[in-house]
Amino acid sequence: GERVLIVGGGLAGVRTAVELRERGHTGPVTLLGAEPHRPYDRPPLSKAVLLGEAEGDEPLVPPADLAAADITVLTGRRAVGLRPADREVDTDAGPLPWDRLVIATGADPLPLPGPAAGPGNGGVHTLRTVEDARALRAVLGARRHLVIIGAGWIGAEVATAARRAGCPVTVLEAGPQPLAGTLPAGVTAPMRAWYAEIGAELRTDARVTGVGPDGVVLADGTAVAAGAVLVGIGARAATAWTAGSGLPLEEDGTVTVDSALRAGLPDVWAAGDCAAHPSARYGRRMAVQHWDDALRAAATVAAGVLGEPAEHDPVPYFWSEQFGRMLQWVGAPGPGDRVLYRGDPADPTRTVLWLDERDVPTAVLTVDRPRDLAQARRAVERRTPLDPGRAADPGTPLKAA
Ligand code: FAD
Repeated sequence: GERVLIVGGGLAGVRTAVELRERGHTGPVTLLGAEPHRPYDRPPLSKAVLLGEAEGDEPLVPPADLAAADITVLTGRRAVGLRPADREVDTDAGPLPWDRLVIATGADPLPLPGPAAGPGNGGVHTLRTVEDARALRAVLGARRHLVIIGAGWIGAEVATAARRAGCPVTVLEAGPQPLAGTLPAGVTAPMRAWYAEIGAELRTDARVTGVGPDGVVLADGTAVAAGAVLVGIGARAATAWTAGSGLPLEEDGTVTVDSALRAGLPDVWAAGDCAAHPSARYGRRMAVQHWDDALRAAATVAAGVLGEPAEHDPVPYFWSEQFGRMLQWVGAPGPGDRVLYRGDPADPTRTVLWLDERDVPTAVLTVDRPRDLAQARRAVERRTPLDPGRAADPGTPLKAA
């Protein structure tokens, strides 16, 4: 059978390998990962692992299952080059051949633009791997003053864990609100109070230029004292290893793929955080860096590799656990959509809906309202219009008009 090589031992990679076997692929399947661990799950890294409630390297798929499925897992080995004409990937331990190649190398945290001299003795951290999480856990254990750069998803989750561990926490955000640029201001403005609630200091419009020995340096020249720093300002697709191969990439470094997640070279696919797919649903290319997208993309790629019909155009979904709350999000609002609050916007649990001109919900954000999420998700996926009056009443289910 054909040899499938999957580069990147994360969620998208391991799920592609398992799906290939479940769909009946009999040829050799090799999963190559740069980390010393077998594929593990990342969401706990900013949650339970920081609190010492989990070690973080529990495998996503039990090793016995990978062995039983005859999947060859190569850990601690990094792809460094791609030669499509020879159908080989170069690694730091020699070349590997393929008939079908799946690129699933995920993303790397963006570093700070400026210099990054370690403040105090706590150092400057990013959070992507289990090693990163353990290093940060040591900072939390030492109760250092943690300065977090970026009030995004990672920043909010780490602020929550650090306060629970008893660390003083300062969060510096360049935008005017938490999650600025991700969600509309009307939705994020109330989230400021969540930082205050747990005793974390949030400073918005605070543009960081670097980290010096005295702490974090802001654009106005002042410094914020820090015992340690976490940089949580986003991630960039880990595709530099394909440079010079002719593999088409987007400007942001993601692999350009078609709706079946085929990359721009014969017999090459890409899935997960490293890929950007064209969405017919949304009329634009989307680079979705969330767990659910990686999982679904893996199934699509496995089907495509086996020559089955395959299309990847899901409604985006993700969750975040922050400030003791469960946030869930489905969809992508259009520019002209209006915001509908279900119930009192001041209610600590809440649901926010985005409706288009036909009252079809395009996106939903729920805070501790899983049932609303499940109902609204169906409406978003099926494009069912809602009666806005009823949808605004938290006592009625979110069903079709
Ligand atoms: P990854 O999981 O990053 O896997 C890629 C793998 O490829 C890595 O192991 C990497 O080392 C390896 N690799 C990279 N380059 C090479 C190379 N050249 N050669 C060999 N191997 C290579 N999403 C949610 O929806 N909800 C959450 O609550 C949530 N929490 C998160 C918390 C944290 C701390 C992080 C980092 C992410 C979180 N996510 C969450 C996002 C989710 O984990 C990712 O979307 C998902 O892991 C993407 O899977 P992936 O396989 O594309 O990439």
